[in-house]
Amino acid sequence: MSPSMSPSRRGFLCASLNLTAGMMLAKGSVADETKKTGPLLDCHLHVNHFDRSIEDTIRHMDATGTSQAFILPLETGEGGVLLRSETVLHAFHQHKDRLIPFCQTDIRQTDAVQKIKAYHLLGCRGVGEQKEHVPLNDKRVEAVIAICNELNWPITMHFQDGANGFNQGLAEHLETYLTRYPQVRIIGHAQTWWANISADVPDAAKSLYPKGSVKPGGLLDRLMSEYPNLYADMSAGSGYGALTRDEEFTAGFLERHPKQFLFGSDCPCRDGLGENFKGTCYSTQLQTLIHKLVSDPKRREDIFFNNAMTALNG
Ligand SMILES: [Zn+2]
Ligand SMILES: [Zn+2]
Repeated sequence: MSPSMSPSRRGFLCASLNLTAGMMLAKGSVADETKKTGPLLDCHLHVNHFDRSIEDTIRHMDATGTSQAFILPLETGEGGVLLRSETVLHAFHQHKDRLIPFCQTDIRQTDAVQKIKAYHLLGCRGVGEQKEHVPLNDKRVEAVIAICNELNWPITMHFQDGANGFNQGLAEHLETYLTRYPQVRIIGHAQTWWANISADVPDAAKSLYPKGSVKPGGLLDRLMSEYPNLYADMSAGSGYGALTRDEEFTAGFLERHPKQFLFGSDCPCRDGLGENFKGTCYSTQLQTLIHKLVSDPKRREDIFFNNAMTALNG
């Protein structure tokens, strides 16, 4: 343990080691995975997911070996979770060494950009999760990307094509923004993002969760090669499903873009063992997969921690 480590960080590590030891008795494999991961930054957490309290969110972080997390509000609740930016800031002020606050506002309101500027002054570090029923090429989406570019911020976007989707039109419009706004870090998440790992993308009305082997030459491989400011958020069922549909492809995909994958869970469980979520924990599940697919510890460290820091700070 380094002598420069802050007391709160040291306290956290002790607490997390105690917790890990306790978990080992209950469920050996989970504890072993989280212990060997090292510093872990979860790029996708919601404080009140399935009514989880702030304390239970911290309990989840302790149990999964998570040192820090991006906390993403969803102001309009139209994706199923409602979390206000001020709730995130409130949580941040109670756990400053663990939580990294993002903000989000309803972009259909005329004061959306002013609000984001205010959240910037209040200590927020990025926009997300941007998830409203507005197509990607809408001027209001562009205005939010433009202000993130100006503030030197990341933005986490939920891409889901189809009639009831969010930011529809990734294949047609994402590259325009990447070219126009080189400073912003766009962090891609959700079904349509992951469908585009393959050159073969089914119509969204047919399937949002394509399965089976991946056809090489997908759009994301090209965009991530050409635009270093494009990042992949590995969280949730959509991320896990896509990363496990063809593990041989995934291993190569991770190797081709070693600095652009961010560990994230989007997990609503409370204890790292799936409490309140049918026994599944997206965090421990993904940690296990990354250990399996990435053998180089330095590359794992990038996925688990360093890449998120680069996406955050630019
Ligand atoms: Zn989410
Ligand atoms: Zn969990």
